[in-house]
Amino acid sequence: MNVNQLLTISAGSATRPRRGLELKELGIIEDGAVLCLGGKIVSVGKTKDALRDPWLKKNRKKVTEIDCVGKVVFPGFVDSHTHPVFVRPRLVDFEKRIEGASYEEIASAGGGIRSSVDGVRRAGKRTLAGKVLAALREMAAQGTTTVEAKSGYGLTVESEMKSLEAIREAASCWPGTVIPTLLGAHVVPKEFQGRSQKYVETVCRKMIPQAAQRKLAQFVDVFCDHGAFTSEETEQIFEAAALHGLSVRAHMCQLAETVLRPFLRFNPASFDHMDHVNEDDIAPLARHDTVATLLPGANYFLGLKDYPPARKLIDAGVPVALATDYNPGTSPTMSMPMAMSLACTQMKMSPAEAIAAATINGAWALRVADRKGSIEPGKDADFAVFAVEDYREIPYWFGANRCDLTVIAGAVSKPGPVRL
Ligand SMILES: [Zn+2]
Repeated sequence: MNVNQLLTISAGSATRPRRGLELKELGIIEDGAVLCLGGKIVSVGKTKDALRDPWLKKNRKKVTEIDCVGKVVFPGFVDSHTHPVFVRPRLVDFEKRIEGASYEEIASAGGGIRSSVDGVRRAGKRTLAGKVLAALREMAAQGTTTVEAKSGYGLTVESEMKSLEAIREAASCWPGTVIPTLLGAHVVPKEFQGRSQKYVETVCRKMIPQAAQRKLAQFVDVFCDHGAFTSEETEQIFEAAALHGLSVRAHMCQLAETVLRPFLRFNPASFDHMDHVNEDDIAPLARHDTVATLLPGANYFLGLKDYPPARKLIDAGVPVALATDYNPGTSPTMSMPMAMSLACTQMKMSPAEAIAAATINGAWALRVADRKGSIEPGKDADFAVFAVEDYREIPYWFGANRCDLTVIAGAVSKPGPVRL
């Protein structure tokens, strides 16, 4: 209650992700209040109206009140793209890249994605679960309440399943919501070098059926790009996912352009990165509900000059989301405010567009918009409370954490020690 700016981001009965001018509508209530019961939102409005509510008058002593005077409250961030299952930071990559080393030079110095793969293959499930849980807690401390978490550093049937089990174990110890994704098709592992088709068969015939049968993943993801998997291989993997009842999403157009139209028949939840989008794909994307998830943390950390063309996509009506891409190689950040700040300064998104992209459209990108991403009666009581007076300060104070507290399922979430 007494919220200086309550960003409801409500859209009533919207049935599709926000696009164009809709991204700017934050539904701000000044001096706002939210009433929650049993982990759900019951009513939203002005504090003075909430205090007149007959139910609240009668039950006020039983209710926990959080005074948010001078603060901004909004639906918890939905971080719809993360790779949290890894053991160690990739410091060799970091230092060598600064020195100007090539991808091959980094790999031969013991860095690159292979070093993460070796770490995950050797690690026990509990070790991995501990790493994921530590990340989830850090994310919550920065306002995130829903997280998509991918496997993808195991690249064997056994270690991909172990990674998904670690995600499940960590999720069971965290009050927020975790959406697990199988990213067996991250890169072709070294034992399949030159035989990528054989590895794709392993993904399609072993990993996907096992993940589906054991309900370890909701989505199947593919890194479809130069040096990773081809469009044909991606279609094969999408077909296997559909056969086993899993939805699909993909890393697309990060390094090189891929024609996206043929994939729309699979109804992907999102295409992620989207740095190099084919002009002819923009109009079809604007007609579909596949979200373009932009990950400027990767561009920042790789020291790239160019960022994903957010303005072009938004102005054409393509629904856009923002996420951290938390991973040890190219985007070691858990901060959605940092992703928003980069979106504003580097991609020219307005602070309002960045907020909507980091909340409601992230929820659409994970297909949880019926319960996440806005503050409306009936939705989950997940909020971020920021110690700022105006929402524009969230991306403005870059590099600082202004998150005062996070409410998850109606309860204040406090950071604690990682214990499984
Ligand atoms: Zn990624």
